[in-house]
Amino acid sequence: MRIDRVELYQITIPLVAPFETSGWVKTHEERILVALHANGVVGWGEWAGDGPWYSYETTEVAWLIIHDYLVPMLLAQPVAHTTMRYAPLDEPRQVRDRLEPVRGYPFAKHAVEAAVWDLWAKQQGISLSQALGGTRDRVAVGVSVGIQPSIAALVDRVGGYIQDGYNRIKIKIKPGYDVEAAQALRIAYPHVQLQVDANSAYQLDDAHIFKAMDDLGLLLVEQPLGYDDIPDHARLQAQLKTPICLDESIHSAANARWALEMDSARVINIKPGRLGGFMESIAVHDVCAERNAPVWCGGMLETGIGRAGNVALASLPNFKLPGDISASRRYYAEDIVEPEFVLNPDSTLSVPTGPGIG
Ligand code: MG
Repeated sequence: MRIDRVELYQITIPLVAPFETSGWVKTHEERILVALHANGVVGWGEWAGDGPWYSYETTEVAWLIIHDYLVPMLLAQPVAHTTMRYAPLDEPRQVRDRLEPVRGYPFAKHAVEAAVWDLWAKQQGISLSQALGGTRDRVAVGVSVGIQPSIAALVDRVGGYIQDGYNRIKIKIKPGYDVEAAQALRIAYPHVQLQVDANSAYQLDDAHIFKAMDDLGLLLVEQPLGYDDIPDHARLQAQLKTPICLDESIHSAANARWALEMDSARVINIKPGRLGGFMESIAVHDVCAERNAPVWCGGMLETGIGRAGNVALASLPNFKLPGDISASRRYYAEDIVEPEFVLNPDSTLSVPTGPGIG
């Protein structure tokens, strides 16, 4: 693949409302956009790290890694601190292996790989969904609701999203704001698909809290224990009927296989940024499909660029649960893409059909 020019942009985009989890509160998002130019075609990728909260990647460090290492490796140019010499790449499936010598920095790798996928799909005249092996033209989506000032405010806020058309609700929980919140929603909205996300706020000793939510018919409980834990999640899963879903703990297809084999999780959240790109995401998708474990697409409050990649990925067949891929307006007064993503009446987003990210 010939690439004529690479541009990096850093942008800051305000959220329509602060987003609070068990560990942090965000009022705006900082993003790095990667633009690859070739013969008048531009491929786009988005760095949607959140660091050093959700992951260790901060904007400054991600910029350095992309600028000094990943882009030179992609372009087969000399790379700092090494005498390695690379050959030019032919297609996007080779990017993961090319960037593999850099350990970690999965969000940075995803930004670069996604830009290559978008460029290549545009050159082929096919959609990103087609390029990745997608099989759907619409993907089921839900909304992720941050921690609210009170349970009453939560019930109100969720009612608004249900009115907007979302029929799967995920709430963030933390110690002291968990069982009561889930019970209140179950009473107020008995038929809504409901799940909770702890972002690693609990210990194994807190199992009683999850047992207290076990009869609420939750779709899943997401990442209750340590962000790097797999074994203790198996000890918790053994005490629950509700499936545990792992997010932060899963960085590769091997991690997903370990988690399923140990029964630490029965569902896996796929975020291409956390996994270092679409290739590793598809590998996780396949590992889970072989073991009859459904996956769904998480989100990092991406702009329309990253969101388009998530929608394309979620069009693969084993994405059997609704994703955290809401419409643009759920997060941003104005998205950076046109057209923005809008919610269909059946709580889905349409998969773009234009070339690349559409
Ligand atoms: Mg999560």
